Amino acid sequence: MSDIIHLLPDAVANQIAAGEVVQRPASAVKELMENALDAGATDVRLIVKDAGRTLIQVVDNGKGMSPTDAQKSFERHATSKIKNADDLFRLTTMGFRGEALASIAAVAQVELRTKRVEDESGTLIRIEGSVIQEQEPCATPTGTSVSVRNLFFNVPARRNFLKSDTVEFRHIVEEFERIALSHPDKAFELNHNNQSIYRLEKGNSETWIGLFRQRMVALYGNPYNQRLVPVEEHTDIVRINGFIIKPEFAKRTRGEQFFFLNTRFIKNPYLYHAVQSAFQQLLPPDSHPGFFLFLEVDPKTLDVNIHPTKTEVKFEDDKSIYAILKSTVRKSLGQYNISPTLDFEQEMSIELPYKLSDKPVEPPKIYIDTNYNPFTADTRQPKNEVQRNNLNNWQDLYRQHMEQSPEISAGQTEVPLFQNVQEKPEGQGFLQLSQRYIVCGLKNGMLIIDQQRAHERVLYERYLKQVEQHQGVCQQKLFPDNVEFSPAGAATLNGLLEEINALGFDVAPFGSNAFVIHGVPAGTEHLDSTYLLEGIIQDYSNNEQELLLKPKENIARSMAKRAAVKPGQTLSAEEMKNLVDELFGCEMPAHTPDGKPCFIQTGIDELDRRLKQRS
Ligand code: ADP
Ligand code: MG
Repeated sequence: MSDIIHLLPDAVANQIAAGEVVQRPASAVKELMENALDAGATDVRLIVKDAGRTLIQVVDNGKGMSPTDAQKSFERHATSKIKNADDLFRLTTMGFRGEALASIAAVAQVELRTKRVEDESGTLIRIEGSVIQEQEPCATPTGTSVSVRNLFFNVPARRNFLKSDTVEFRHIVEEFERIALSHPDKAFELNHNNQSIYRLEKGNSETWIGLFRQRMVALYGNPYNQRLVPVEEHTDIVRINGFIIKPEFAKRTRGEQFFFLNTRFIKNPYLYHAVQSAFQQLLPPDSHPGFFLFLEVDPKTLDVNIHPTKTEVKFEDDKSIYAILKSTVRKSLGQYNISPTLDFEQEMSIELPYKLSDKPVEPPKIYIDTNYNPFTADTRQPKNEVQRNNLNNWQDLYRQHMEQSPEISAGQTEVPLFQNVQEKPEGQGFLQLSQRYIVCGLKNGMLIIDQQRAHERVLYERYLKQVEQHQGVCQQKLFPDNVEFSPAGAATLNGLLEEINALGFDVAPFGSNAFVIHGVPAGTEHLDSTYLLEGIIQDYSNNEQELLLKPKENIARSMAKRAAVKPGQTLSAEEMKNLVDELFGCEMPAHTPDGKPCFIQTGIDELDRRLKQRS
């Protein structure tokens, strides 16, 4: 038999290697933007069509390339950034492997235009599936423009693997934001399907922290300015700069967590743990610390080579860095907590039309409809069959739901429930436990209702109906609120305005990313309307991608989550009764919209059994 090992043709080898570097459009965005910054650009424009499927173009005003370099740049392991292995330990650029352009050109149709300042004319190269189609002089401004068309045109498996445009575009925005955040002294632009998403001017603050704050506000909107606590620590091992988000603004999703190491975005569970433990006990339950932390260490003490996309790193002295990071974050939190009036705006030069901190803090209230008596026929809204039955006969309804909810009824007793509740005088028979649960006695047992979940279910059904039927009642504000969101957030909100207003908001666009809130849904007056809208924006894309929710459901869920009464809130007897009545007036009282049980039951015989077991 003859020898069977042969070398793969370059094009095939490149395509295989491309799999490591270019997983999706966002990976190409990252590589191209990093190249622009490595080339000293101060202005980087990203133009995207169809979430990067048809076009990703990065235009920079960097130093450009000579005709020979332009051609070489597409060869594998072609880089101007390192010459030998030692250079790996002196890295100051974002790229160094010389793989990105070769990889991208292996799986797309690429056009490069580039010119150095000293050259009369520039160079144009067209390359497709690693094969150069055309190279010629061209007229082009100093700098470089790379357009990547039809990504994965020759790798159908990868193309089919891409997620929806919303998901892919979100990945692109994430990469863009990471890069824009870590270079607040440069101008960036993001344009998607001919629509401008971000235009970020370069900052004008004298200090780095000031620049960074301006960039944060430009990306995420003015409310952020109030949420940031500066962090600063300079030691021989590591320099730490940046911001943490005040604990009360912590999010439920782990979105706002950024570590940058020597200006490169990194992921590092070990460092994350350090920050998380510094925040311990300061965060509301189920929420995650928010932070934007820039670490600088001597490149000699790093091994960045362990991951091809370079988001993972190994530190030489990770234990010390952990300890320093934790104590630095703790210190900042401590300063902020001890002196909440500390002026964080000293270095700020931006005018703030919107101030969260100016609003008086109101305790949360539960919305009670005092005209509403579930035991008389409801004249306001026609109820469907299920709901009518619910109100007329709790007992049957409840059994029916228990049968549909095996996880709740499993192992529990079958007792007739709610037998006497309707005959009880108003306000009796309800006990609040730990400011979290409502306990009501039944003839043959008891029911323990989670107040937050029950309220969430009630509100969800109410809001959903209101959005669907355009029935939301609006409570006009005496003084309209102006709010500003990030460009991406504003785009989401604009797309949802009809639904949001159907729910009872009165919100209108007001300038580029700003909105004016004239009114809010009745019953939510006590809540911060900006918080509600931000919640809708934030939940929207998560829910759309992960749960494939329709816009109306999506909004109703988000609102219900935020407007629901929280644990820790004392409820009056009347409030408890109303809530329980409303819960059992729902179509699906047993669970929250995301499937968590709203209540559990225990029968007398269950109590008997347990007490007797112990005797
Ligand atoms: P790396 O960035 O790891 O060196 P790339 O494949 O991304 O590898 O780029 C190869 C080389 O092409 C770079 O080292 C650089 O010299 C050149 N290059 C790429 N993009 C640009 C750009 N936008 N401006 C100037 N030179 C560039
Ligand atoms: Mg590169």
